[in-house]
Amino acid sequence: MRNIKYIAVHCTAGSQKTTIESLKLEFKRKGWKYPGYHYVIGPDGTITQLLDESLVSNGVKGYNSVSINVAYIGGIDSKGKAVDNRTEAQKASLLSLLRHLYKKYPDAVIQGHRDFSPDTDGNGKVDTWERIKECPCFDAKVEYQDLQP
Ligand SMILES: [Zn+2]
Repeated sequence: MRNIKYIAVHCTAGSQKTTIESLKLEFKRKGWKYPGYHYVIGPDGTITQLLDESLVSNGVKGYNSVSINVAYIGGIDSKGKAVDNRTEAQKASLLSLLRHLYKKYPDAVIQGHRDFSPDTDGNGKVDTWERIKECPCFDAKVEYQDLQP
């Protein structure tokens, strides 16, 4: 298994109606061998695993080899503005997934995409929202600090 240093939290920076299939297509269109995230959580709280944890997903440039990437579907409003629009079901599933992953990788730090160094942004492979470091549109470090002693 890889040495996991980060559990990175993302939003998909799209509509909450975005399907898993269209996400997969988007990753393919970008020419990525593997998806952007290991796990994606839909508005109804369903957790879908896109990639085995032993493989490297494409979430945070420069940190992917030591990260597990987790995303909730959503993150922008109808006008395209960054917003924390997680449903209660998404919040609950995120929490239980992060709790599970942290148990598995107790040396990892749980943080949002925007909490990574600005050097990793704006490289042409991350999307607009990530470049301005809104992702995941809420303060993951604060929200999940109780999970990490
Ligand atoms: Zn992100």
